[in-house]
Amino acid sequence: MPIDATQPYDPNNVFAKILRGEIPSSRVYEDEYAIAFHDIAPAAPTHILVIPTGPYVSWDDFSAKASDAEIAGFVRAVGIVAREAGAVEPGYRLLANVGRHGGQEVPHLHVHVFAGQPLGPMLA
Ligand code: IMP
Repeated sequence: MPIDATQPYDPNNVFAKILRGEIPSSRVYEDEYAIAFHDIAPAAPTHILVIPTGPYVSWDDFSAKASDAEIAGFVRAVGIVAREAGAVEPGYRLLANVGRHGGQEVPHLHVHVFAGQPLGPMLA
């Protein structure tokens, strides 16, 4: 069920639990600003989720409230994850769903990194 992106942050959402190590994930990257792990239901040969370490519901929340250091750190982390996945050539796709019409299911900002095949005009 897609979430309302204006809801308060829920510290018990599944990605908060992954961040705290309370439930397992196949983590591929971590630093002060972000962690990344494989999506549990991959929609492409490479499907990694990158999440900020701070408590942000969505891209909207993050872009409005995060510090410049958090934003820079997160954006850099997404780039590193894609690079380390070997996806820069032949390319990849980034996606951040926001709220009900965006189809966002988990109320902690995540950027999807899709790669490993031609992705076509759209990957929903
Ligand atoms: P959204 O629709 O953009 O919110 O995407 C949520 C993504 O999280 C989906 O692609 C799910 O497959 C993925 N997901 C949900 N629970 C887990 C988990 O426990 N580990 C890894 N990925 C998850």
